[in-house]
Amino acid sequence: MGKLRILLLLLFIKSLLFADITLNQLLTQTSAEFSWDPFNSSGSLVIKKREIRFLLNQPYFLFDGSPQWGSALVKTEGTIVMPDETYQLFYRYLMNSDPPSAEDGQYKVSVIILDPGHGGKDWGAYAQWEVDGLTTNLREKNINLDVALRAADLLRQRFPDKEIRLTRSDDHFVTLTERVRIAESYNFSPTEGMVFVSIHTNASLNPRGKGFEIWYLPDDFERQLARENEDELNEVLNTLWQEVFIREGNNLSQFILDNMDIQTQGEMANRGLKQNAWYMLRNQNMASCLIELGFLTNQEDATRLRDTDHLQRSAQAITDGISDFIEYFENRL
Ligand SMILES: [Zn+2]
Repeated sequence: MGKLRILLLLLFIKSLLFADITLNQLLTQTSAEFSWDPFNSSGSLVIKKREIRFLLNQPYFLFDGSPQWGSALVKTEGTIVMPDETYQLFYRYLMNSDPPSAEDGQYKVSVIILDPGHGGKDWGAYAQWEVDGLTTNLREKNINLDVALRAADLLRQRFPDKEIRLTRSDDHFVTLTERVRIAESYNFSPTEGMVFVSIHTNASLNPRGKGFEIWYLPDDFERQLARENEDELNEVLNTLWQEVFIREGNNLSQFILDNMDIQTQGEMANRGLKQNAWYMLRNQNMASCLIELGFLTNQEDATRLRDTDHLQRSAQAITDGISDFIEYFENRL
């Protein structure tokens, strides 16, 4: 085999090992101007005074007239693609800098924290119902814990590579500060973060109040901080990923809400998304939300909240909502 054929073979093998990048991705990233000559199957990319010319299926290019060897651009299913190696070569020449590495730019959720509200001496909401002639006590702290434990099991099965943590896993009192401290005990890289879901159950003086709802941080969260503490604001604004994660509370909430509808087959009242700067939520640099599973003080909801099948479905909804969020968040550019 001649040297050229060996080189081509090696380039071909290499092209099989690395995922192809579309020409469009490169154009979007570099804002290069592209022109195409269909007769010669040749293209050119221009940015400022730099120009790259290439011929489709040919393993050489012209960088401002100077020949360069590399792996060919090819057309697959109507799209022009190039191997990672060629993408790196083109990007460096056009931008005079290294391309953004996939690892660096990749957002990752590495920790999921479930936070069952109340516990121990703190019962949370409370209601008494007569069922079959017997008095039944419904305590919020027990329902929150039950659903959180079920969801933690499901999440551990689904995400063996992520850390799944509970702020409490039995019936004991945990202060808000302790819950926040658990969340703040992690050190993350700039694009890494966590999901934090608080689980609560509602009560109302109005027995007709019913359904589930989800709370997340208000859109003007940063502005609220500004009024209270200038330094804290700067800390938040200086760390871009924190902002990114905080704003994602909205999406996280919507995913869980949608899955609650799916799991209850639309038969339980959906009270929608709500915004508030809860003490719990505002101390987290992460995508967070707080779910209210239903009303202990409403007959319909109370029947569901006593039913282990329903509690399992609520846990499933939280798990699926978090999964949907992770899929969306980790695959964004
Ligand atoms: Zn509560």
